Amino acid sequence: MSLPTVVVVGRPNVGKSTLFNRIIGEQAAIVENRPGVTRDRKELEAEWLGTRFLLVDTGGWLPGGTELDEKVSRQVEAAVKEADVVLFVVDASVGLTDDDQSVALWLRRIKSPVVLVANKADNDRRENDRWEFMALGMGEPVPVSALHGRRAGDLLDEVCRLLPEQEADDADDGIPLDDDGEALWKMGDTPPPRVAIVGRPNVGKSTLFNRLVGEDRSVVHDMAGTTRDAIDTLVDTPDGPIVFVDTAGMRRRSRIDDSAEYYSMVRALRAIDGADIALLVIDATEGVTSQDQRLAERVDASGCPIVVMLNKWELITDPEARVEVEAQVRRMLYFVGDAPLLKISALTGKNVHKLRPVLQEAIEQYHRRVPTRDVNKVIAEAQQRQPAGHGLRVLYALQGATDPPTFTLFVNRELPQTYMRYLERSIREAFNFGSTPIKLRVRKRSE
Ligand code: GDP
Ligand code: GDP
Repeated sequence: MSLPTVVVVGRPNVGKSTLFNRIIGEQAAIVENRPGVTRDRKELEAEWLGTRFLLVDTGGWLPGGTELDEKVSRQVEAAVKEADVVLFVVDASVGLTDDDQSVALWLRRIKSPVVLVANKADNDRRENDRWEFMALGMGEPVPVSALHGRRAGDLLDEVCRLLPEQEADDADDGIPLDDDGEALWKMGDTPPPRVAIVGRPNVGKSTLFNRLVGEDRSVVHDMAGTTRDAIDTLVDTPDGPIVFVDTAGMRRRSRIDDSAEYYSMVRALRAIDGADIALLVIDATEGVTSQDQRLAERVDASGCPIVVMLNKWELITDPEARVEVEAQVRRMLYFVGDAPLLKISALTGKNVHKLRPVLQEAIEQYHRRVPTRDVNKVIAEAQQRQPAGHGLRVLYALQGATDPPTFTLFVNRELPQTYMRYLERSIREAFNFGSTPIKLRVRKRSE
């Protein structure tokens, strides 16, 4: 099996070669100087705490100046495409430059994880200067001094954490491949979020689906759905892959006979079963019907977060009618609480782009983990504000699981439901969980 590849990129003079030599030199684990590699493609085997990888220096390939963008060499492009991890080196003694921005822009298109390395962080002050690189949108910069070796170990820990498991074999893991035959995400990564588009017939689900896929499309893959005759669609968006769940009816023009409302309900419930988030499409010209309401209740009960898509909004032109429709929707769907509501036209595309940040936010919350210390602080404060009485107490709390966020409360005796709801609300508000459902579990403990 070939070794995973770590590729070093960055504008000239940031210290790529120095970093390369530091990583190779520090371990003195040069196993081979691979013959046949392209001229001045420096590529050596390295090892850190038992993890082996191929380190590739792209130094000297990236032309400087304004031509950077056009001239990104094919070799760098090829190397980066093959990379399992990319080290994007910037210079903390100089600060952010336009060339760094160009490299970042270019790197944003690749799928491999990118570690932003703030090199020449030779001392504490320089280390603090690294924060301006957050503007590159590449996450938190890791400070190192390639020259002095400062923090090089921390960087390598991070690199190894991002590398694929070495023991893993190439067995089929069910992860779909992209056009180059590469897996679209790695084992152990958070799998792509799963989005279900649900709603009554004719509210515009297919139109919305096509709009979402059409707009963002770079790669679309069919995947076998979780149940027979379901088709999931994997879309590779600039924000990473997203799976649309059970899109069979939306993909085929000749529909399975889903004109029956009953069938659309069955289908929706099946879809949300495997989804991280549901887009509940409502036809604004009809408002929320009892059928919509029933569907929303079921989705809500499943614990799946909801985004309400009030579709065909362009057909409602009268400002008063608009206010009325929105109020009616809020009223009829009161039980979904703070679920975001977007007024869109799937047909014209208007406002559909607003879904992206909402989706990202919801997904992030869904996967979020709150530190135990903070959970306990919130619970303690809540109990102080309003004790449960009768000596009932939460002794200790922690977030036991994500997706959805699930909190375990260790209590001395069973707490009343009303008090549990109070605690749930306190947690939700303290950590801004928004519309994401959270779960509470209770364990009894003797004090
Ligand atoms: P490259 O063009 O990106 O490969 O950069 P080089 O590795 O050739 O380094 C460019 C210059 O920066 C050289 O003079 C290095 O000695 C210097 N340099 C590299 N790393 C560090 C560092 O961590 N601290 C300081 N102060 N200088 C560094
Ligand atoms: P589905 O059954 O929920 O998948 O609904 P479709 O996507 O097939 O849409 C049903 C009808 O509503 C079609 O005639 C669409 O062209 C129309 N439609 C969908 N979205 C909009 C919209 O935003 N505005 C208008 N005016 N019509 C829409």
